Amino acid sequence: MTRARTGILHTAHGDIETPVFMPVGTQATVKGLTQRDLAEDLGVKILLANTYHLYLRPGHELIRKMGGLHRFMSWPNAILTDSGGFQVFSLSELRKIDEGGVTFQSHLDGSTHRFTPESTVDAQLAYGSDILMVLDECPEYPVSHEYAREAMQRTLRWARKAHEHFRARMETMPTRHALFPIVQGSMFADLRRECAGALLDLDTDGYAVGGLSVGEPRPLSLEMVEATEDILPRSRPRYAMGVGMPAELPEYVARGIDMMDCVLPSRNARNGCLFTSEGRVIIKNAQYKDDERPLDPRCTCYTCTHYSRAYLRHLFHAGEMLYAVLATRHNVRRYLDIMAEIRHAIRLGSFPEYLRCVRSTSAEAG
Ligand SMILES: [Zn+2]
Repeated sequence: MTRARTGILHTAHGDIETPVFMPVGTQATVKGLTQRDLAEDLGVKILLANTYHLYLRPGHELIRKMGGLHRFMSWPNAILTDSGGFQVFSLSELRKIDEGGVTFQSHLDGSTHRFTPESTVDAQLAYGSDILMVLDECPEYPVSHEYAREAMQRTLRWARKAHEHFRARMETMPTRHALFPIVQGSMFADLRRECAGALLDLDTDGYAVGGLSVGEPRPLSLEMVEATEDILPRSRPRYAMGVGMPAELPEYVARGIDMMDCVLPSRNARNGCLFTSEGRVIIKNAQYKDDERPLDPRCTCYTCTHYSRAYLRHLFHAGEMLYAVLATRHNVRRYLDIMAEIRHAIRLGSFPEYLRCVRSTSAEAG
């Protein structure tokens, strides 16, 4: 028995079949891909963009003036923006948290800024995001139970403020948006359950599970998702933030997750790590020097139907731009294909079997 389910997420910019993987477009671009590649070729229905980065550059007011993020970046489908909390806590050297929000220095030029639960809602509404996230505090790993509890309770209070502000703003807005609160509580199941239970009062359109992929052992991330599965309402989408490796995608789905995002497919592509249906390919390796085969013989992406491993390896070593373009295109496609396989297996009722197969293959691959 797993908790896997399929569904359809309705947004003002189209319907999205779930479980879904959202490619990350940190700076309002998925590095190496055009919006046409994403929408038409890869069939991406929803992208993630980053509130913190876009707030610092080019700024949310400029994006508002340019007609919002969809128009600014020429993206027809849905956009989810994170609240910026994770970046403030991971990128900004100097930051000070108080009850009202967080004051931090830009990692770009050292200038001082402040995020509050209300201001991050305003920034995301200026972008015109379909799905907004509340400002949360994302503690490092590991932290004490005491600190994790303090941070979780602050995150809860921020979520209430953000929702109150969001609801007031929605009364005067003609467009449709959703705001998801985030379950925090570090790696303590009791805190996560307490947090999820308290968030139910907000009766929101969806719920996110955050604070994962902060350096904890991978089985622990799954355990933390499992901890709140029975609390979060089954009628709403659940989003696991910042996960995971290809073999982990079905693991999260098995634990009731509907949405995921991760920089891995695009970042690893640029670093030379390619995900295929037969496992990982480290393209710089000498074994691919004269390998005429496609990167993944079972993949129908543009890269795999047109180029050899030998050519990709050559582009990588030569530091050619085209390498990143072709590699990213394949890796993102691989993630989307995995999600399509997962949805198909759930519909057929064969998902438990699919999961067993992924587990035994990834155990073999080490
Ligand atoms: Zn491919």
